[in-house]
Amino acid sequence: PPYTGKICCIGAGYVGGPTMAMVALKTGLTVTVVDLNKQRIDAWNSDRLPIYEPGLEEVVKQTRGKNLFFSTDVEAAVRDAAIIFVSVNTPTKEYGFGKGRAADLTYWEGAARSISKATVPGSALFQGFKIVVEKSTVPVSTADAMTCVLQENCPAGVHFQVLSNPEFLAEGTAIADLTQPDRVLIGGSMSKEGIMAIEALASVYAHWVPRERIVKSNVWSAELSKLVANAFLAQRISSVNALSELCEATGADIDHVASAIGSDPGIGPKFLKCGPGFGGSCFQKDILNLVYLCQSAGLTDVAEYWLQVIRMNDHQKRRFGKLIVDTMFNTINDKKIAVLGFAFKADTGDTRESPAIDICGTMLNENAKVTVFDPEVTEDQVLQFRDLDYRRIFDTMCKPAFIFDGRNILDHDQLQSIGFRIQGLGKPKTLEIVSGS
Ligand code: NAD
Repeated sequence: PPYTGKICCIGAGYVGGPTMAMVALKTGLTVTVVDLNKQRIDAWNSDRLPIYEPGLEEVVKQTRGKNLFFSTDVEAAVRDAAIIFVSVNTPTKEYGFGKGRAADLTYWEGAARSISKATVPGSALFQGFKIVVEKSTVPVSTADAMTCVLQENCPAGVHFQVLSNPEFLAEGTAIADLTQPDRVLIGGSMSKEGIMAIEALASVYAHWVPRERIVKSNVWSAELSKLVANAFLAQRISSVNALSELCEATGADIDHVASAIGSDPGIGPKFLKCGPGFGGSCFQKDILNLVYLCQSAGLTDVAEYWLQVIRMNDHQKRRFGKLIVDTMFNTINDKKIAVLGFAFKADTGDTRESPAIDICGTMLNENAKVTVFDPEVTEDQVLQFRDLDYRRIFDTMCKPAFIFDGRNILDHDQLQSIGFRIQGLGKPKTLEIVSGS
């Protein structure tokens, strides 16, 4: 039967908040999002939401207080719901075994223990069990560990089905991605109860997602698919970034190259824009997690292959910082430098692992005076950078006046005609700048 009960989500972050707002909007089911962080919950209940996503505010306004609730009462929400999403953070481990690579599962295990504690006789069940849905990105076989923690800490006779339902939304387009997902992946046990649980969750998504886009698999494939999807996306960025350096060295233009190769359907046009390195909370941590899994399985060559994606990203971040210093006559000591944009990409206010942090760090190490502006960033505001009065800016600047366009969004010819010395990534080097001739 389709699921008609209440839904709970543990973790009110970038994933839990928008995802559950969409579930509430599309299904009409009662959804409660809980978090230990009271400040975050207060923000979700206020006029200034804790995260910025285009379209999110409208969805929250339509549902909050009707069938969407934000609370710190984890126990009550878990007790009353038979489907519980777990969307807590799973950062890279910073200590002990697997330090710097493995996923830190402290928060995830905390959530599992909260669920077992709150599962008391009389709490809500679906067909005799509670369904726990991993939304967080986790290592393969985490569902098995979660089942173990849950099953050994709950009242006799209560059963859990743990599903893997990784989230593929991208920050900046979360609402669009959630409204029309390319696919919804649900992994679970192939037992009778497992299949019932998968069907119950599928019935939730089926309120708005076409059935053919709801893909089912075993639990390990679903867990691994999320890591691999992010590894592939990041690999494309590292590939195009690697070639941007070759373009600069050879006089080719990375935008021309990307457009030429992207029209091949086997390659496709997306994720071919070069930049100052990928950022965000997921790509690096998920690849490191994949690398750790490969190493744990003794697959050294496979691990090395994926690690190179991160090495290339570090190289690109360093290289952009160095390009700035080299171009400005090998010293930026005491020079005033304005940084437009600090989030890790457009249309988000999220600065986690943003390449801007590394690049600003390089400039500060070189004793530059750095001023950062980020409007927290709607599309219009990104374009704003394009529409600044560059002639006026040029007039006020020390000469030669430099612009380093890490995203290649500005009109380089026009800026050059004003008198700027402009260097984009993957663009032929304007050598006269370097030599000063
Ligand atoms: P986040 O840090 O924004 O949110 C996680 C929230 O969980 C925090 O508010 C934290 O207080 C809360 N939390 C931690 N332990 C808890 C507990 N025991 N009980 C209650 N609340 C608890 O993280 P996020 O960006 O939303 O990511 C969550 C997961 O989703 C991660 O595994 C991430 O890899 C994955 N993911 C993220 C994205 C993204 O774009 N951010 C996309 C897809 C998947």
